[in-house]
Amino acid sequence: MKRTLYLDTPIEYLKGVGPKRAELLKSELDIHTFNDLLAFYPFRYIDRSRFYTVAEIRGDMPYVQIRGFISHVQLHGRHRTTRMTALLSDQTGSAGLVWFRGFKWLKDQFKPGVEYIVFGKPVLFGNQYNIAHPEVEPVSSAAINQQAGMQPVYNSTEKLKSKGLDSRGIGKLLKTLLPLVKNEIRETLPRHILEPLKLLPRDQAMHHVHFPAESLSLKKARARLKFEELFYLQLNLLRHKLLRNEKSKGCLFPVIGDLFNDFYHKQLAFELTSAQKRVLKEIRSDTLSGKQMNRLLQGDVGSGKTVVAVMSMLMAIDNGFQASLMAPTEVLAFQHYESVRNMLHGLDIQAGLLTGSTRKPDRREILNQLKSGEMHLLIGTHALIEDVVMFHKLGMVVIDEQHRFGVAQRAKLWSKSDVPPHVLVMTATPIPRTLAMTLYGDLDVSVINEMPPGRKPVKTVHQYDRNRLKVFGFMRDQIKAGRQIYVVYPLIQESEKLDLKDLTDGYESIVREFPPPRYAVSIVHGKMKTADKDYEMQAFVRGQTHIMVATTVIEVGIDVPNATVMVIESAERFGLSQLHQLRGRVGRGGGQSYCILMSKDNLSADARKRLEVMVSTNDGFEIAETDLRLRGPGDIQGTRQSGLLDLKIADIAQDENILKFAREQAIQLLKEDPSLGMAENKIIRQRLHEMYRDRLFWSRIS
Ligand code: ADP
Ligand code: MG
Repeated sequence: MKRTLYLDTPIEYLKGVGPKRAELLKSELDIHTFNDLLAFYPFRYIDRSRFYTVAEIRGDMPYVQIRGFISHVQLHGRHRTTRMTALLSDQTGSAGLVWFRGFKWLKDQFKPGVEYIVFGKPVLFGNQYNIAHPEVEPVSSAAINQQAGMQPVYNSTEKLKSKGLDSRGIGKLLKTLLPLVKNEIRETLPRHILEPLKLLPRDQAMHHVHFPAESLSLKKARARLKFEELFYLQLNLLRHKLLRNEKSKGCLFPVIGDLFNDFYHKQLAFELTSAQKRVLKEIRSDTLSGKQMNRLLQGDVGSGKTVVAVMSMLMAIDNGFQASLMAPTEVLAFQHYESVRNMLHGLDIQAGLLTGSTRKPDRREILNQLKSGEMHLLIGTHALIEDVVMFHKLGMVVIDEQHRFGVAQRAKLWSKSDVPPHVLVMTATPIPRTLAMTLYGDLDVSVINEMPPGRKPVKTVHQYDRNRLKVFGFMRDQIKAGRQIYVVYPLIQESEKLDLKDLTDGYESIVREFPPPRYAVSIVHGKMKTADKDYEMQAFVRGQTHIMVATTVIEVGIDVPNATVMVIESAERFGLSQLHQLRGRVGRGGGQSYCILMSKDNLSADARKRLEVMVSTNDGFEIAETDLRLRGPGDIQGTRQSGLLDLKIADIAQDENILKFAREQAIQLLKEDPSLGMAENKIIRQRLHEMYRDRLFWSRIS
């Protein structure tokens, strides 16, 4: 019953496009149809209502618009003409104009005594500003009227520009397209949403966003289109969550049994924080609901997520189910295994560790015990989601540091039992709320927003490499006081060899500075054999070595409360969330801890900002927000693979309010009409169908 819509017409049939340009529009901008071009929104606007004088020009202006007279038109170049220059003058002074091409027909255009409007980017050259390839038009009332207001700027690429499709060229295509399709632009939001929210109709919004007359209508147009985009994104997420809840059954954990109680009353050495208790209640109520739990647990490093995970797994085991804990690396899996075994010491629980390097006989034994149900708790890396790993009755899966697991890997969990296990995804990388809503809009979210009592915030300083001796002195003092120290080097995949050299050089200089037998230094990096790595790691964990020199393999999870100093080398090369993770390795015991960010002298503005933020706050959420602002959502871990962020007009970093609002509207709508079956919501149903018809059904995947 699908009608072919005029807007689905291939872009090459638009006047001014043709097959060659069409190919480029497809390959460079993913514009295939009239509709795609329509939804190719300007990325910024230039205010053409404002005029400057020559004297007002500054070097940092992205563009200026000046009224003046043009004189001294000259061609340059000996054999072939290579450029044309001219002088633009107003009452306040003169600026140069220059063209490197296209001047053959231009050179006789400029008439003396005629006033022109000149528009372009000024660049200081010698002591005069120059504008290369300016837009020039004679001042006439018509021209002024036409130019007044906001001018759209479209993204383009070198290839497109070479075919005349720069921002202006694309603008021209839209000028051709819009009148053609004016009556074809269908409304995508129902009246009962448009009217109370006073949103512009879609056709008007499209018009104003491409040809804004003034800033108010532009603002309204953008607001409408952003709302629409975010509304449908949220609606789709929430609808899938609803469907999943309807369809999926979840394991029931009706009893709080002996294991849980013994652990809580006898084993646990501390009182849970109220945030931990709250999260446990949320998990408890999920596991009583008969629906599968899909919960994201956010909590800053050191906030105590592991205990919550362990207690959730005990709930499962108490009810005759098996549980499993997945970690992103072998080192971390091993550490979890050790600490969980410690915690559960004295409880009647059979726990196993399965990683890529588990030996064959052990592996066979573990697999048998899992299948028979003898083994209650399996800890491991993604080795444990391989097909050969079969559980007797898996009820709870905890995934630590989820961003390292691919979506497909998580999907595999679903095949492990008839009734899908409850899933608790733990992340210590705080995600800005807006991003969480978008990435995990279909998950329930729990937050541990409270640190265990008695923690002193880590003191962070920034030191330049040239002050290294001072830092060594400080390290010596700390070691004298019985503390341990991490020294971390960046590891960036592309230059792995170089990084490794940095690390080993660093290790040697540390050993020179902290020589045996007085001092002991461990080294750990990803290229070491697992056995050696474990040996070094254990030596540090047991307090046998003073300093641990490492790459970011220690970024996640390692827990050595006696380590109080984190020295991060070449800190300018780390991203904010990584720096924050690393800092979280210290400040875990009662003592005052320190994070020292070492860097070279010359820092880029962004790197400087990152280090400043680290020095100024310990709040993971604040850091995450800054990260989002500095890097944009595309670079935040985990977002790229989701494919969720190819938003056309909304911007997760900027449009938090619209996002929240859109989400509320979507929630409200689904409350009133869960199946979207009401006549008044027909438009919505159609639109959803159209938007997501060929997308991967990704939200089934926890
Ligand atoms: P996360 O995984 O969230 O980074 P962990 O679970 O590793 O944090 O906990 C960090 C440290 O705090 C551990 O040594 C843990 O034993 C301790 N801890 C956890 N909860 C509490 C609490 N309520 N009171 C005191 N210490 C706690
Ligand atoms: Mg942890």
